[in-house]
Amino acid sequence: MLESRANMLLSIVVPVYNELEALPSLFSAIRGVMTSTHHNYEIIVIDDGSVDGTSDALKQTAESDPYVKVLFFSRNFGHQAAITAGLDFASGEAVAVMDADLQDPPELLPEMMALLEQGYDVVSAQRTTRTGDGMLKRYTAWLFYWVIRTMVNERIQVEVGDFRLFSRRAITAIRQLREQHRFMRGMVAKMLRFAWTAISSFSALRLRLSVFFGFFVAACGVGYAIYSVFAAYVLKATVPGWTSLVCLNIVFSGATLVAIGLVGEYVARIYEEAKGRPLYVVVDRANLNISQPQVAKAVILPTTPGEPKTTYERAARKANRL
Ligand code: UDP
Ligand code: MG
Repeated sequence: MLESRANMLLSIVVPVYNELEALPSLFSAIRGVMTSTHHNYEIIVIDDGSVDGTSDALKQTAESDPYVKVLFFSRNFGHQAAITAGLDFASGEAVAVMDADLQDPPELLPEMMALLEQGYDVVSAQRTTRTGDGMLKRYTAWLFYWVIRTMVNERIQVEVGDFRLFSRRAITAIRQLREQHRFMRGMVAKMLRFAWTAISSFSALRLRLSVFFGFFVAACGVGYAIYSVFAAYVLKATVPGWTSLVCLNIVFSGATLVAIGLVGEYVARIYEEAKGRPLYVVVDRANLNISQPQVAKAVILPTTPGEPKTTYERAARKANRL
C-alpha cells in the first residue's frame, strides 16, 4: 500500500532554460498548491545551461528555500536530457515533470496525486485548449500528433505533453532507458526507440531535409514521367519502349533513394548510440548533497568551490576580463 497523501514525498522536476522571468511565479504557484494541500514536496530544477542569469537566481532561491534543489548542467543538453537528470535525482515516492512556463498548471497536481494513490503508475495531463498559441503552433501541433499516431504509435495520446506524474515503480523502469535521442512521451508509451524521435527532437531538421529532398526529387521525376507519356501519346515523338523505361526508372530509383535515406537515418542513430556518450554533465548542485552519485551515462562532477561552473558564470567572468 502507498503511504497516505500528506506524507508521500512528491518530487516536482522542472527543466529550465533561460527562464529568469518565469521562475518566481512558478515557485510561488507550486508553493501555494503544496502548502494548501499539506503535501510533502521537493522541487528539482535542472538548469540546462541557461545564459540569462537563471543560474544565479536559482542559487539564491536554493539558499533561502530548502525545498528547491538544483542541478546545473555544464551546457545546454536539451529538454529531454534535463528531464532525465531530474528523474535520476528525484527521491520522491511520486515524481511529477512540468515545464517552467506555467503552461502546465500545478493546481492539477493534487488531483493527479489522488489518481496515483488509486494505483496508477503514470498519470498524464491532457490539454483541452490552446488559447495562448498562434495558428502556426496549433497547426504544427496537430500535424505532429497526426504523424506520430499514424506512423509511430497510436498509443501516444493527442495533446498530452510532458506534464506527467509517475510512481516510484514507473521511475525505476524509465531510468533504465538511457538512449541518446530521447522522447519521453514515446518511452512512456513503452515503444518507439531511437528511430523517429527526430520528429520532435533537435535533429528533426536533418530528417526533414532528407525526406523533403527525397520527395522533391520524386516530384520532379513524376513530372518527367508525365512528360514522357505526353511525348509518346500526344507528340508521338518517341521511340517505342522509351516511355515505359523512363517511368520504371523513376519509380524504382525514387523508392530506392527514399529507402536509403531512411536506413541512413537509422544508421546515424545507431552510430550515435554506439558512442555511448553521457546524456548530461552536472557541474554543480544546490541542496542536493549526494556524495558520489552513480548514474548510468551521466557525468556528475564533484563540486569544487570558487570555480566558475555554469555557462552563465563563465560568460560573466569572460565579460569582466574583456
Ligand atoms: N527547456 C530546457 N532545455 C532546452 C529547452 C527548453 O530545459 O533546451 C525547458 C524550458 O525552460 C521549459 C521546458 O523545457 O521549462 C519546455 O520548453 P518550451 O516551453 O520551450 O517547450 P514547449 O512548451 O514549446 O514544448
Ligand atoms: Mg512551453
